[in-house]
Amino acid sequence: MLNYKTVTNLATIEAEPLQAAAPRPKVGFVSLGCPKNLVDSEVMMGLLHHNGAELTPRAEDAEIIVINTCSFIDSAKQESVNTILEMVQHKRQFGGKAQRIVVAGCLVERYRDEIQKNIPEVDAVVGTGELEAILAAAGLTPSGHAQTNSPFNILPQGTPEATIHTHAISMSQTDGEVAQLEATSMQAGQNLIDRAPSAVSQHSRPLADPEHDREIAPQLRIVQSLAETGTTHGDEPLNHTGDHIAHLPAGIDAGNTSRPEGDLRQQQGRFSRESWDGATAALPEYLYNDATPRILTTPRASAYIKIAEGCDHPCSFCIIPQLRGKFRSRRMSSIIAEAENLIKQGVREITLIGQDTTCYGEDLGFTDGLATLLDALAVLPGLRWLRFLYTYPNKVTARLLETMAKHDTIAKYLDVPLQHASASVLKTMKRGGNAQIFLDLIAKARRIVPGIVIRTSFIVGFPGETEADYKELEAFITAAKIDWLGVFTYSDEEGAKAFELPDETKLPNRTIQARRRKLMKLQQKISTKSKAEWVGREIDLLVEGESEETELLWEGRTSLHAPEIDGKVFINDFGPHETLVPGTFYRAEITESHDYDVVARILE
Ligand code: SF4
Repeated sequence: MLNYKTVTNLATIEAEPLQAAAPRPKVGFVSLGCPKNLVDSEVMMGLLHHNGAELTPRAEDAEIIVINTCSFIDSAKQESVNTILEMVQHKRQFGGKAQRIVVAGCLVERYRDEIQKNIPEVDAVVGTGELEAILAAAGLTPSGHAQTNSPFNILPQGTPEATIHTHAISMSQTDGEVAQLEATSMQAGQNLIDRAPSAVSQHSRPLADPEHDREIAPQLRIVQSLAETGTTHGDEPLNHTGDHIAHLPAGIDAGNTSRPEGDLRQQQGRFSRESWDGATAALPEYLYNDATPRILTTPRASAYIKIAEGCDHPCSFCIIPQLRGKFRSRRMSSIIAEAENLIKQGVREITLIGQDTTCYGEDLGFTDGLATLLDALAVLPGLRWLRFLYTYPNKVTARLLETMAKHDTIAKYLDVPLQHASASVLKTMKRGGNAQIFLDLIAKARRIVPGIVIRTSFIVGFPGETEADYKELEAFITAAKIDWLGVFTYSDEEGAKAFELPDETKLPNRTIQARRRKLMKLQQKISTKSKAEWVGREIDLLVEGESEETELLWEGRTSLHAPEIDGKVFINDFGPHETLVPGTFYRAEITESHDYDVVARILE
């Protein structure tokens, strides 16, 4: 449960209205949670910035502080609450400069009323489906996109002036310490990424300006939207008729409807939030598009694109469908336009995300919509790496795998959360499948896409998981030799179907933790062996910068490492270079291996 106990120590004072005279209110932003939440943060920061706000990395300087929260499981909720309470301390009544505290994101969908009831210092809340409400919440008025005399007028990419040096709040700066907290970003029952309390702060490291071959200060990047005078209101049709989309199948912009599965599950009550005190009845429907202002917080060469929102699946441990609404796809033309725009602005690696990317386009009338989208994106000039995360096992089709194999630009990397291998546990999870089906899927992927790496995650300790179920999972992991594996412990979430399972089926915490430890040990052995096989390989390496662990090493990623989640490539030899430029690709050789990480030397 949420713990609001420290709130009682805070004096309750009415929030003051923002001073009208402040022309450019300073906004600090803390982003918690998974990459999907990070994209929401980037959109909200873009909207704020576009409408006259100045972003600041220092909580103590901010007049408005926004916390974009995560609410997937209890530990994520608790971190969200702790962060809100920490930020509240920067309000005027406590000696700070902040006049407004805004809470956004999943916690709002779950505890809309409770947040303000229990933390009266919070001035406004913004749910996941109302990102544009961030303006009103911050006391700003929408000013439209065509602000030619705006101090934030966006300059052509590539000039030093094009970089507007803005930052989001770094909690490590406010704390005076570098905190690497236990990850709280959750999707698909998994802990996706280890992230500092402010996702944004973790990204705020020196980045390269490829045009000028030099380092520039830590920054966020303003993404110039294609339609500068366009709308920010959802995924409306754009007047964009680039050659690359002319050949796409008819009906591609047919408009948003829902998937039949989603409609059916809605009738069955899958998305109902009736029992949630204060939750609004209307499900989130918002989708950003390429015309929406967005500020990138990821390293210069990389960006996420959210291709869909919501989820129609019935997984019994998961409340994301209630939090995020029914599955809905962005128009393909909008995604392609956004990708082109990002590439034009220096992005070389695009990662497609959504709660389930393999459902992409089903609501628009496509079969194999993701494969069609990949076909269109993979050939965009200037793109080096394209990847997609969060696939659903029974939707990984031969066509999708063949598309991966066909394009050099598509990373040979399949992220497919399996959650378990025992048929009976999978049945109670309402996911289906079994160990043999999953082994066949992995074998098929390895056959069609030579050299593919598989990332998956499992939940241990699901209600009713017997020792035999657990052993089956162990046997599966041994047989499948998964490349990247996350093991997460079951979290009993009120609102999820599994919460209603009889108490006697719920496992003691010590059993759950012991099972997780054992699986991780098993995986360590598998990983150590497989990483040893990497030694001697020549690879393309995207250099990210100095290692966060030691200044003696640098770090980078291969196309077989997704941003933030997988093991690391440490660089201990710059080869012919005096120094390396973060955000740049180099040819390198793997020289050493460890359990999950490898060491490389730069060749050229
Ligand atoms: S597929 Fe949907 S319901 Fe299942 S775990 Fe993922 S987000 Fe939750």
